Amino acid sequence: MSSESSTPPWSLTQRRPSRQIMVGKVPVGGGAPITVQSMTITKTADVEGTLQQIYALAAAGCDIVRCTCNEIEAAEGLAQIVPRSPVPIIADIHHQYKMALAAMEAGVHGLRLNPGNIRRPEHIKAVASEARDRGISIRIGVNGGSLDPELYDKYGGKVTAEAMVESALREIAYFDEVGFDQIKISVKASNVPLMVEAYRQLSEVTDHPLHLGVTEAGPLPNGLLKATAGIAALLLEGIGDTIRYSLTADPVEEARAGRQLLEALGLRERKNVDLIACPSCGRAEIDVIDVANRAMLAFGERQIPLQVAVMGCVVNGPGEAREADLGIAAGNKRGHLFVKGRNVAVVPESEMVEALVEWAEFIHEHGAEAAIARVDTEKAEREAAKDRSMLLDAQGDDVNRSNERIVEIRKKS
Ligand code: SF4
Repeated sequence: MSSESSTPPWSLTQRRPSRQIMVGKVPVGGGAPITVQSMTITKTADVEGTLQQIYALAAAGCDIVRCTCNEIEAAEGLAQIVPRSPVPIIADIHHQYKMALAAMEAGVHGLRLNPGNIRRPEHIKAVASEARDRGISIRIGVNGGSLDPELYDKYGGKVTAEAMVESALREIAYFDEVGFDQIKISVKASNVPLMVEAYRQLSEVTDHPLHLGVTEAGPLPNGLLKATAGIAALLLEGIGDTIRYSLTADPVEEARAGRQLLEALGLRERKNVDLIACPSCGRAEIDVIDVANRAMLAFGERQIPLQVAVMGCVVNGPGEAREADLGIAAGNKRGHLFVKGRNVAVVPESEMVEALVEWAEFIHEHGAEAAIARVDTEKAEREAAKDRSMLLDAQGDDVNRSNERIVEIRKKS
């Protein structure tokens, strides 16, 4: 296999063709919507605690949840968790193939096996045969940090994309021997370019669905950036059927991030508010950061699939955010609400967030046209024009006083 990466013939909209497998009732690959996964961080034996986390993950947009199955108590916990879970459950298995058998007995919908630490062919085949008979899917989860030592040595004592791909292909060969093909594959590394290269190579030699992730990405915000860099790069190339953010954070953050990335790329339908806000500048009439954060909190997990804008000034705000479904721009101690770029109402500055939520709910229920029809838009436009011209008169074009400062600098130099 060449170490040179070639540009795949796929794209964000023309996705790499892959087979479809089922994880419980959730399809993965074969044109199915890209799914979001996460993993619980409770002890799996703690049934109630784990279920609570699973419900929180599902509410945040997670489609499939993985739980560790590292001891017999965990397998027994899974037997109680699986029937009460709102989403399919995958058991994460390391080292002990018998835990895979126990998890299947507990009724899990899928397994994740790490080829780096379950290496005896008879164990791998025993698990695959059982999964085949029960109709359970398996993820071959290659991890750069726990690569099979033999492959590590073969590739010069380092983790390479080729070594990770070979590890996955060896595992597929064992599965083939027992006629098992309900497989998805991951080749994760904590190094983003390495991970991207490994998935690119893998995508050229197999049509099994791929599970994307940057392993051990770390705490927020760095982890979020690393994971997004790797996952988004591949999704933009049409590669990837399911994703997981591996963050050192509350797993709900992983689910939110996964969901938001897919929505931002247009790969999943919007579920919650997409809050956009200007970065603020010298023209801002409010503390944009504070208002935007309060608006984020107020919308919370409300399922209102609208784009809502918070803009710091009425001079440029309504124009810059004219594509938003709804927005508000500050000016002269007032908030100017606009719907699809049209001014609709004026509210006191202190009521901006409440007004946004109320209008968003109305639009979600009755549509933008009905929202516009219920108000006097001409009056709202007149008020906005008044505040806009007042601000322009007061601030002028050089609101950041740059020219003034330049004159001062020149005087002193
Ligand atoms: S909307 Fe107004 S305050 Fe916000 S960045 Fe643009 S000009 Fe500055």
